[in-house]
Amino acid sequence: MRRAVVFFLVLSCFLAVGQEKKYVTVKKALNLMGTAFEITVVAPSEEIGYINIDEAASEITRIEKMISSWDPDSETSLINKNAGIRPVKVSRELFGLIERAIKISEITDGAFDISYASVDNIWKFDGTMKNMPSRGAIAQSVSKVGYKKIVLDAEVQSVFLTQKGMKIGFGAIGKGYAADKAKAFLMSKGVPGGLINASGDLTTWGTKATGEKWMIGIANPLSKDKVFSWLPVIESSVATSGNYEKYIVINGKKYSHIIDPRTGYPTSGVQSVTVFAKYAELCDALATAVFVMGKDSGIHMINQIDGVEVVVVDDANKIHRSSGILFNNNQ
Ligand code: ADP
Ligand code: MG
Repeated sequence: MRRAVVFFLVLSCFLAVGQEKKYVTVKKALNLMGTAFEITVVAPSEEIGYINIDEAASEITRIEKMISSWDPDSETSLINKNAGIRPVKVSRELFGLIERAIKISEITDGAFDISYASVDNIWKFDGTMKNMPSRGAIAQSVSKVGYKKIVLDAEVQSVFLTQKGMKIGFGAIGKGYAADKAKAFLMSKGVPGGLINASGDLTTWGTKATGEKWMIGIANPLSKDKVFSWLPVIESSVATSGNYEKYIVINGKKYSHIIDPRTGYPTSGVQSVTVFAKYAELCDALATAVFVMGKDSGIHMINQIDGVEVVVVDDANKIHRSSGILFNNNQ
């Protein structure tokens, strides 16, 4: 999805010999949540590895059923259908995800907002759109956006979208969440190491079968075949929000598919944002938020959060980074 400018080369070895026991590293590409996943596990045999991967895939499918806005029977669709009507009691899991999403809205001053979804349907990022929607249409759709209008009741575990026409969507956090859950599931099964890669939003644990660290390479945005930095990812996660595939050009200006929920307009100025943190869910959401906030306020915000780092590539292909990113080369 975001291969064109910043992409991750995951070094993996398929067959390796441990010191006493033989372990193998097994990898499988899967299409889940409408996106390309790659699950890699360290296992005592290939057969066990593939069983583990299939179980992790079922876990991701389960999450998709919960958060999908397309599936009319999902809990999320039920919340959306009852916007402006009544609170909906949901599972503890979905309640928790929404609660955390709202916290991220609070720390990003609304740049990340799961209620962006009512705006989403007036912009088409598939190349068919040549003109801006009318100001009136944008103002109208953004009028339904606002995380403060999502009312949570922790006692009954209910979610209420207080305005008719409001919608929530997990497009900017769901893949990260699913990756975290798949990892937690595999760890609970005793899988000693692995990597869950949801189209570039990824999380790792343990080491490769050889004992080596999982490494990711960030490509030079000017030349996708040149890796400018290799970073070890130890028990942690990475996610990228990128501009390069889904965007529109109107009057010569490039707009990305990421909407500023406060204005209703797509963002511009940033090509890609890569966030590093412990959990993929947080990486995924913050990458979107930094994209919306722009490089200066985005990096400033990340610098205040412990254990979170960011690399931003701007429109002029210039690379900017938060204070904890240690590589020096600017290209
Ligand atoms: P990618 O599409 O590359 O995975 P993101 O993780 O940033 O990128 O997710 C973008 C998706 O998130 C959009 O397609 C849309 O569904 C949704 N989205 C867009 N803008 C916002 C926003 N400001 N806050 C939350 N979700 C958003
Ligand atoms: Mg995201």
